[in-house]
Amino acid sequence: MTRASPAAARPHLKDVSPGALRERFAAEGLPAWRADQVASWLYARGVDDPALWTDLPRELRETLAERFETRALEVASVERSVDGTVKAALAARDGAVLEAVLIPEEDRTTLCVSTQVGCPLACSFCATGTLGLTRNLTTAEIVDQLLRMRELVPERRITNVVFMGMGEPLLNLRAVVEAVRTLEHAKGFGFAPRRVTVSTAGVVPRIAELLAAVPVNLAVSLHATTDALRDELVPLNKRFPLAELLGALRRIPQLSRRHPVFVEYTLMAGVNDSRADARRLVALLRGIPAKVNLIPMNPHAGAPQQPPAPEVASAFMGELVAGGLVATLRRSRGSDIDAACGQLAGRGSGRAA
Ligand code: SAH
Repeated sequence: MTRASPAAARPHLKDVSPGALRERFAAEGLPAWRADQVASWLYARGVDDPALWTDLPRELRETLAERFETRALEVASVERSVDGTVKAALAARDGAVLEAVLIPEEDRTTLCVSTQVGCPLACSFCATGTLGLTRNLTTAEIVDQLLRMRELVPERRITNVVFMGMGEPLLNLRAVVEAVRTLEHAKGFGFAPRRVTVSTAGVVPRIAELLAAVPVNLAVSLHATTDALRDELVPLNKRFPLAELLGALRRIPQLSRRHPVFVEYTLMAGVNDSRADARRLVALLRGIPAKVNLIPMNPHAGAPQQPPAPEVASAFMGELVAGGLVATLRRSRGSDIDAACGQLAGRGSGRAA
């Protein structure tokens, strides 16, 4: 028996952004506004059964239904945190399960999406890293995370999207770029670029590629100020060490004080949380337009690291500010349902049994 793979199925309408859909339609001799009608059903209205697209001619509806897939993910299970965070396990057509997390705050609602089933990077403090990689997600599977979460939490409007769920976005660059295009296209979800953030552990050559392809915020998961420690925490560092990563950030033309790179730094007690670490971080980031997000380690069964005491985290933050950096200390959200950063390894995730 052959294993079902998304590539073997019919092409998916959500694998192409609204802009590319116009080109596809044009190639078939169809006007651009027909493609826009389809996009508006798929994204604005979230109706994925072509039979219901009543402003299209019946013949076109039938052709589309015959030739294309229109739905990529189903909700497998949902957990709601006491703080309002909602985590869903979502099942793809081949049985692979991934997770998406919706984080409501006073002034915004952020959706955290996955880009791979599992992750190949094996960062020592991250739960997803213990899974290994099953496969890349398709654009349709990335985009459907928004649609399923919007249906699950209809009372909140999703205002921000962060590519910070399971997986390394830059190891699935093509699908991620096309998903960002759908997020930002007026006939897609219409997000402003500054409301979309792609995070990487530092796949250096692909950072410039991403930012040249689509306007997005860049986040880089740094976590250490020496190669010796970063090699241990983020094994990818052996391929792309700190000097290369920071050198690349210095040369990215899209970064500026108005559009800084978000540097993610997970604080781990006794590992990377000393004042000396903080001062080294200040020195490393000199000359790079950066904003530091400190995330206290979210503990989980798959890793030994623990968060620092609150006063240690504040002292670290104080050193950064004294060194002239803009920094925030992130509050952990959804940790009671293992929905916080680095905790996505859901009992249901990975390949279905
Ligand atoms: N692979 C990409 C996208 C994942 S983003 C990247 O590494 O940037 C998930 C963020 O949560 C990363 O910054 C990651 O380093 C961080 N993280 C992982 N495990 C964590 C944990 N246990 N506690 C706090 N943050 C964690």
